[in-house]
Amino acid sequence: MAKLPNDYDWRRSQGHIFLLRLFTSPRIIDIVNEPRYEYKYLNESVSKAFDRLLRDGALEVCSLSEKLGYVYKVTDLRAKLKAHGKKTGGSKDELIQQLLQLEYSKLSMEMDAYQVYKCSTGGKLIFERYEQEKDAALALAKKIIYESLIKLEIIQARKTYAEYLKIWEPSQANYDSDYQFSNLRRMLEKSPKRLAEKYDKQSLRKLQAAAAMDLFWRDEPGWRWLSDDLGLEAEEIEQSMQLTKRYQKYLDLIEEWSFQQNEIRFGQDNPNVCDNCRRLEGVKLDKKKALEWPFEGCTNPTGCLPLRSYELQRGEEFEREDAELPDEGEEENDNSEEVRASLPQSLAVDYFNLLRQLKYMLDDGLITAEEYQAKKADILSRI
Ligand SMILES: [Zn+2]
Repeated sequence: MAKLPNDYDWRRSQGHIFLLRLFTSPRIIDIVNEPRYEYKYLNESVSKAFDRLLRDGALEVCSLSEKLGYVYKVTDLRAKLKAHGKKTGGSKDELIQQLLQLEYSKLSMEMDAYQVYKCSTGGKLIFERYEQEKDAALALAKKIIYESLIKLEIIQARKTYAEYLKIWEPSQANYDSDYQFSNLRRMLEKSPKRLAEKYDKQSLRKLQAAAAMDLFWRDEPGWRWLSDDLGLEAEEIEQSMQLTKRYQKYLDLIEEWSFQQNEIRFGQDNPNVCDNCRRLEGVKLDKKKALEWPFEGCTNPTGCLPLRSYELQRGEEFEREDAELPDEGEEENDNSEEVRASLPQSLAVDYFNLLRQLKYMLDDGLITAEEYQAKKADILSRI
């Protein structure tokens, strides 16, 4: 572990702020021995970080009555007072004060065994300021990225994103990958004809930029940027956004067609298909002619999206491919090599396609970003 300088400014360190917040109310020092994911971002040992917070006055030793309040429950305090033949009414603090008058030195010695700390008033200000600065940095990063995307300044957008993550969310920094942004340029450049006819060029750009925002922040509802900017009804924006995003899925689909399927399939009993598109079920499309979407005559405001191969074969086929990759941390059993060797050639893993399918699952919210990263790393390690 790299050694941090003594005057290191921990006030912007995700890990240190996390550690400090553990002590919002009095806690015993043992808490720092519990393993926590966030400690990874301390960049020093937990005890060093703890000493640093203490030295800078963000943490402080609790007073005797605070220690008593931490160690004893109200019922314990009442029992003690009762043993002295005293009244047992009042708040916890009052009970403690009463007890201290009766047996100060005994309690004082007893409490020596407990190292109880709490976040100081100054410490609380530090993490409150951290949260405010982080919120402001996030809002600013989003604004810069949105504006960069409108101008097609992709490098600037990604740079801003990487810098924000590096400082404020190092635990998320590995999500900034080329793979994550592989669709970015296309999202900014291609949009369905239906929208191109409806909006002027600048408004369309904004719409595309807003739709692309969720490649950066998945919980970012892009329409928020647009209602301010375009002065349109939320409902209309939402619909156009949906159409934009689904168009991207459609483009993914027809890329996939070159080696997976080349006919339109909505699947049986799919209620999201309009009558016009329903007639296209099973129609083979030449990839070059397939670019027009929503399909001609489609009455669905967000377009009818054909199913992808993995959605069609969801269940057995897909499960089987997936089952070849053992879960993370799970040890492969001895005969797994044998099993793999005996698989027919047609089932040999198409890694590229597997990665695409994984990305679709992420886009559809079927798996979390974390699961996606883990699985992706797993797949890549096998190529
Ligand atoms: Zn339709």
